Amino acid sequence: MDNKPTELPLVLLLFGGTGDLAKRKLYPSLFNLFKKGYLQDRFAVIGTARHDLDDEKFQEIVRQSIANNGTEGQIKAFAAHFRYRSHDVTDLKDYGKLKDLLAQLDQQYNANGNRIFYMSVAPRFFGQIAQAIKSEGLMSDNGYNRLMVEKPFGTSFDTAQELQNQLESGFSDDQIFRIDHYLGKEMVQNIPALRFGNAFIDATWNNKYIKNIQVTLAEELGVEERAGYYNTAGALLDMIQNHTFQIVGWLAMEEPASFSDKDIRAAKNAAFSKLKMYKGEEVAANFVRGQYGRGREVWQKAYTEEPDVPADSKNDTYVAGRLQFDTDRWQGVPFYIRTGKRLAAKQTRVDVVYKKSTFDFGTTNDDKLTEPVLSILIDPVGGIQFSLNGKDVTTEFSTRSDLLAWSISDKDKAQTPDPYERMLHDAMNGDGSNFADWTGVSISWKFVDQIAKVWAEDKAPLESYESATMGPVASDRLLAETGDRWIYRG
Ligand code: NAD
Repeated sequence: MDNKPTELPLVLLLFGGTGDLAKRKLYPSLFNLFKKGYLQDRFAVIGTARHDLDDEKFQEIVRQSIANNGTEGQIKAFAAHFRYRSHDVTDLKDYGKLKDLLAQLDQQYNANGNRIFYMSVAPRFFGQIAQAIKSEGLMSDNGYNRLMVEKPFGTSFDTAQELQNQLESGFSDDQIFRIDHYLGKEMVQNIPALRFGNAFIDATWNNKYIKNIQVTLAEELGVEERAGYYNTAGALLDMIQNHTFQIVGWLAMEEPASFSDKDIRAAKNAAFSKLKMYKGEEVAANFVRGQYGRGREVWQKAYTEEPDVPADSKNDTYVAGRLQFDTDRWQGVPFYIRTGKRLAAKQTRVDVVYKKSTFDFGTTNDDKLTEPVLSILIDPVGGIQFSLNGKDVTTEFSTRSDLLAWSISDKDKAQTPDPYERMLHDAMNGDGSNFADWTGVSISWKFVDQIAKVWAEDKAPLESYESATMGPVASDRLLAETGDRWIYRG
C-alpha cells in the first residue's frame, strides 16, 4: 500500500454478516482501512444473514469485533456506516429489499455507484447469490460491480466449472475476485519482488542454474474439530489445489509484460498451461499420500482415532508431489510440493535449490561445495535466507556453507496488513493480481482430479507417518529418485 491513502468510495454488501469470518477478519480489516484513510465518509456496509437483527444490534457486533483496535470515537464513527438486513440467500424475493437499500446508501454516502458483493457464506450458495445479484437488479450502472468469492471454489473441475458458469452469468472474469488468502500473505507477495527486483536472481531463475524448487506448507496441528469437512477433502483439496498451486504460480511464471493483473495472470497461465498432467500410473510415480499415525506423546492420536473420523478412513492428511513444467525455462527442474497435518513444525516456505558450482579450486576441498539455497520463509516468521559457499577460516584454502539470513522486524510486522485487509483494498482498487484467476484454477483442478481419481480407486499406497515427524519416508524417496532431498526437515 502506498503512503498517501486515496478515499475509495463504495457500498459493500456482505452475505454472511454474522459469520465467523466476518467478525474475525472482515470487520477488523475494514476498520484498518478506515483508520488508514482508504475508507473515510463515503462508504457503507450492508450485512445480511438469516438472523433477525436491527441496525443497532448489528453495529454492536461490528463494534465488538474491533474493540481495543482503536479509540472509542473511531469505533463509533466506523460502525455508524453499517446497516443490517435479515435475508435468506435462497429466497429471490428477499433481494428486492437489498436493492432499495443499496440505492439509498449509495446516494446517502455519495459512493459513486461502486459496489462490492462479498460472499462470506457456505460455498453451496455462491452460484445462486451471483445469479440473484444480476437477475434482481442489485448491480449499479454508474460505478463498478465486483464480486468477492470465498473458498473453496468447487470440489472438482466439474463443480468448479459449474460454479464459474453461474458466476459468469452475472459477472465478467475481471469483476470476479476469487479469494486465496495465501496470495494476500506478505512473503508470498515478496516472491515477485525478489525475482523481478534483482536482476541476478531473475537471470538465474531457470534450469541452467536451478536444480529444483520446494514448496512446503506444514502444519503442526492435527484435524482438530474439522473432521466433518476435512475427511471429505483431505490435504490434496484443502491445501494443494488452491494455496500450493497459487504459490507455485508466482515461482513458475514467465516474466510478465508488465506488473498489471492482466499481464501477471497471463504469465502465470502460460506456465500453468505447460504443467505436465499425470494419469494412471504416473500419479503413484510422482505423488505420495500419507496419513498420520500416533506420535510419541499420548495425546498424539492417529488420524483414524480422532473424533468423528471413521476408523477405516483412507483420507490423505499428507501429500508430497513432483510437478514438471514443459517450458524452456523449467525443462528438467522438478517442483516438489508437500503439505500435511501433524508434522514436526508449522512452517510455510519455499526453498530454491541452485546447482552446485563446478569450479575447480585446485584443492582437495572441492567436494565441500554445497548447493546454494534461497529460502523464502512465509509462516510463521517471514524472512529470506540464502545459504552460499564462502571461504572457511583455515590456513589452507577451503570452502564452507554460510547462511545470510533476514527476517521481518517487529516494526515491519506491526505495519504488515492482514491478508484480508490487502485483499479488500485490492478489490476496491480493481486489482486482481493477488486473486486466483479462472484459467489457473481450472488447470489446478484438472491436475488434482487425476490424482484424486487414482487415490479414490485405491491404486496408490496410503503411507502412514508418525505424528510430529516430517511425513512418510516415501516422500524422501520421491526426491532421492532424482538425486534430491528436502531442504527443510522440521
Ligand atoms: P459461518 O458459518 O460462521 O457464517 C456463515 C454466515 O452465513 C452466517 O452469517 C449465517 O447466518 C449466514 N447464512 C447461512 N445460511 C444462510 C442463508 N440461507 N441465507 C443468508 N445467510 C445465511 O461461516 P464462516 O466461517 O464465516 O465462513 C464463511 C465463508 O468463508 C465460507 O465460504 C468459508 O469457507 C470461508 N472461509 C472462512 C474462514 C474462517 O476462518 N471462518 C476462512 C477461510 C474461508
